[in-house]
Amino acid sequence: MRVYIIADLEGVSGIVDREQLVPSGYRYEEACKELTEELNCIVEGCLRAGAKEIIVHDGHNFGFNINRNLLHSKAKLITKSSKILINDSFDALILVGYHGKAGSSAVLSHTYSFNSIKNLKFNGISVGEIGWHALIAGHYNIPVVLVSGCDVTCKEACNLLGKVETVVTKESIDKNSAICYSSEEIKKNLKERVYRALKNVDNYKPFKLKYPIEMVIEYYTNYSARKACANSKLKLISNNKVIYLAKDIIDATNNFRAPKPSLLPPILKVIYKIIRKKAEDLGIY
Ligand SMILES: [Zn+2]
Repeated sequence: MRVYIIADLEGVSGIVDREQLVPSGYRYEEACKELTEELNCIVEGCLRAGAKEIIVHDGHNFGFNINRNLLHSKAKLITKSSKILINDSFDALILVGYHGKAGSSAVLSHTYSFNSIKNLKFNGISVGEIGWHALIAGHYNIPVVLVSGCDVTCKEACNLLGKVETVVTKESIDKNSAICYSSEEIKKNLKERVYRALKNVDNYKPFKLKYPIEMVIEYYTNYSARKACANSKLKLISNNKVIYLAKDIIDATNNFRAPKPSLLPPILKVIYKIIRKKAEDLGIY
C-alpha cells in the first residue's frame, strides 16, 4: 500500500493567525514543529496498517516548512513543489492541517490565496482546497481517507466527500480565533483513525466529477479577473468571474490562475495617511 499525504499548516493544532504561517511571523517555528509531530503520528498509523511507502508533500506556502530531520524516517518528503504528484500507483490520500474554503467561517479560511479567490466552482460545485485536491486524487481513482483541521473544515470535507475520517483540531470562533484542542489528544486520534481508515480503505470512494469540467473562478477584484485572462485560456464572463471548459481536473488545475489584487488601492491608502498626518501636524486638518 502506498499513501500520499498533503500537509498544510492552517488547520494544525493551535494555529489561528496568519502570523504563524510565514517564516518571518510570530511562532512560525512552533507551528512547523507541531505539523511535523502530527505527521509523524500519521506515518506511524500508516505503517501499522501495512503501508509500504509513505510520501509527505509539504503543501503550505512554498512547500518549505517541514524539517526533513524531524520527520519520521520511514516517510519521503516532497518539498518546494506546487504540483500534486499523486498518480494511480497510490492507494489513499490524507489531507493534514487543512482549512475551509474562501468565505466559510473556518479558521484561516481561503481558497489557494487569501486575497485573490472568492469562489472556485467545478461543474457548479463550490470547492476549496479539500474538494480540489480530492478531485485530483479522484482522477486516479484514489480516495481521501482522512482530513484534519478545524470543525468547519471537517464538516466541509464530510459534506463533499461523504464517508471520510476526520480529526478536529480546534473549534472555529471566527476566522482568527478558535477553541484549540489538546495537541496530545489530536496526535492520538490521528494515529488511531489513520490506522482504522487504511485497514478499511476499500470502503472509501474516490471523489469524481463528470468530464469535461467547467471551471468558474470568481475573484475578489475585477483587476484579478482581467489579469487572469491575460496570456491564459480563461475567458471573462463578468467583471470578476472567468470560465474555462477543461478536459479533466488536471487540465483545469493547469489553467487555474490566482493573480493578486492591484497594489494601487493599498498604496493610495498609505499616501492618504501620510498626507493626513502631515495636515494634522500643521493644524490644517
Ligand atoms: Zn497553507
